[in-house]
Amino acid sequence: MKKEFASTEEQRLSPKIFLLLMALAYLFALAVRYIWVDWASQVPEFFWNGQLMINTNDGYFWAEGARDILAGTHQPHDLSPIHEPIARLTAFLASVLPVKFETVILWMPAFFGSLIVVPIMLIARELKQDLAGFLAALLGGIAWSYYNRTMTGYYDTDMLTVVLPTFVLWGLVHAMLHRRNRWLLLLSALMLFYQWWYPSAVALDTAFAGMLFLYTLLFERKSLYHYKLLLFMTVTVTPIPLWLRLILLAGLFLYFHVAREKSDRVVLPLLGVAAVAFVLLGGLGPVWYQVKGYLLRESAVNETKEALQLHFYAVSKTVREAGQIPFELFANRISGAPATFLLSVVGYLLLAFRYRVMWLALPMVGLGFIAMQGGLRFTVYAVPVMALGLGYLLYWFAERVSETFVADPSKRRWVNRTLLGVLGMAVLYPNIRHVVEYKVPTVFRSSEVAILDRLHKIAGREDYVLSWWDYGYPIRYYADVKTLVDGGKHSGDVNYPVSFALTAPQAASAAMARLDVHYTEADFESNRSGSYLAQMMEDAGIRDPELFLRKLEKGEIALPKLKRQVYYYLPMRMMNIFPTVAIFSAVDLRTGTVNRQPFFHPLQALRQQGQKLEFAGGVSFDLGSGVLALGNRTLRAHSFLVSTFERDGKVRVQEQRYDEQSPYYLLYLKSLQRFILMDRKMFDSTYVQLYMLGHYDSRYFEPVIRSPWAAVYRLKTSK
Ligand code: MN
Repeated sequence: MKKEFASTEEQRLSPKIFLLLMALAYLFALAVRYIWVDWASQVPEFFWNGQLMINTNDGYFWAEGARDILAGTHQPHDLSPIHEPIARLTAFLASVLPVKFETVILWMPAFFGSLIVVPIMLIARELKQDLAGFLAALLGGIAWSYYNRTMTGYYDTDMLTVVLPTFVLWGLVHAMLHRRNRWLLLLSALMLFYQWWYPSAVALDTAFAGMLFLYTLLFERKSLYHYKLLLFMTVTVTPIPLWLRLILLAGLFLYFHVAREKSDRVVLPLLGVAAVAFVLLGGLGPVWYQVKGYLLRESAVNETKEALQLHFYAVSKTVREAGQIPFELFANRISGAPATFLLSVVGYLLLAFRYRVMWLALPMVGLGFIAMQGGLRFTVYAVPVMALGLGYLLYWFAERVSETFVADPSKRRWVNRTLLGVLGMAVLYPNIRHVVEYKVPTVFRSSEVAILDRLHKIAGREDYVLSWWDYGYPIRYYADVKTLVDGGKHSGDVNYPVSFALTAPQAASAAMARLDVHYTEADFESNRSGSYLAQMMEDAGIRDPELFLRKLEKGEIALPKLKRQVYYYLPMRMMNIFPTVAIFSAVDLRTGTVNRQPFFHPLQALRQQGQKLEFAGGVSFDLGSGVLALGNRTLRAHSFLVSTFERDGKVRVQEQRYDEQSPYYLLYLKSLQRFILMDRKMFDSTYVQLYMLGHYDSRYFEPVIRSPWAAVYRLKTSK
């Protein structure tokens, strides 16, 4: 294959036109991100404080940090991320912009995520392929997976985690093509900024350096500039303090700048020293970690070294994201459709064949392709490069067609541009259709936030709220309290006590909650190792976990005094995941195996015929006889209960008993029109008793807020 075959006429537009196209691509990416806003704005329940709420759980973590930075204070050990770049950036923007805080976090992902069009077009301009770059920017700005992770309301570090490495790629290409010392500094600055924003970025930065090393060995062995570039990149990714890297980089730059040609002889020795230092200091660690975790699929279970050897439930068993994904989904996520994906691979190969520097994009492609093995979240990294590939292929194709089939040169340009427009729209179409269909709800509904807002006025900032980890960040953001588990703290050992407190009967639940709060808070100060549960057992002088739990249930474990209040937040939305919540404390701690599968099934009601209630999945219930039919199995129910949330917050329960010996209960939540079938263990759980039935034992709990959406109870800790 000849280079001429792969090449196209160079396109370098005037700076004015180029910037205009860049602004157009940016506005296009923003406009597409308005589609969700337009849809969500029709749902009043998605609004709080007069603004649409965000749609990603983790966002509330960063929002908490930004809120505390603006407030100028936060509580010790409340886990508020006040030092994180995204929280700082948010606080800064919220303080200078004349809009509400809620507006800032809602729109930040859209405004920052759409910036991806800038490095895409800059890279294409380096290759003198401005029009191909424009097409690539239109696609890359809204491509399926990239859109999902930078849509309006998706307030997370993702808003820049792909933009920044694409800038790094541009900086690298720019330096390689222009070979001036100053571009060494620009590239290093881009790489450091990326690592500052996202610490794991050091792995991708290192991969870029590794790629340049290979590239230099293959094509540029005689170019001293490439070795300089390698030297700067190596220093940038070496695991030493940031200030030291900055001093070294500045020193190197000054030396090269002042000494000029005299410095040439020392470049290779310096590079050798830097490379050895990099390896000896453990610089390959982050890359190796990625490979180990995602390519070799080594299990992520961390073996806790504790004397008691407790075995907890591994969270990875419930996480969906990790795991292999089918090719079609993978292709859709990168380019919008399988056909466009295959074309973009061809386009990338064509591009790299024509412009050798584009091989430097391979680390991003590789990271994106790891998604085939490591889970969906990596596909975004391949988006910008694949978009460049597709943009180039379309441009190349349009040129070939107009050259071959149009004889009249004056018409040729017209045919070329029309073809480009039609092909571009065809490529964008599946991605825009995805955006229109992608109707993500906000994390919480306003009626749920209203409850947390009331709790905020009741609870102090040092008080704890016990709830499942899924709600940890939003609870901390809206109620400004502390939590036991959250989106970042939810390993099997910390989940165990919370799961226990939600699924055990009230006396045991109250005891465990008190212990868990005490040990959580004490653990910040102490340097004890081992899980909180192991610490509790150690202090009680008990080595057998079953014995410890039995004694806890009987009230024979001494409980610590607490200096703070503890609230239970028991939301309706936990109903759907309650079996998962329960399983974390259903393990045998001595072996890690699940003792009893939690029996808790929300049912989908189909119809009532006389005395007979029919549900989806072949389940039916006879109100007269109390006979439950599960497919061809029949059981007698203990009772059928109808629970109604009254206006005054009380819960009214009517019960029809059938068989005192049976462990099965059918519960109808009238206000929510939901049926749940459960066994006695789940029926007796604190979650079901307090929230669904309003049956609280006043020795341990007092109601604070009760509504169909959630109940909040205060734990009595005086005794
Ligand atoms: Mn706080």
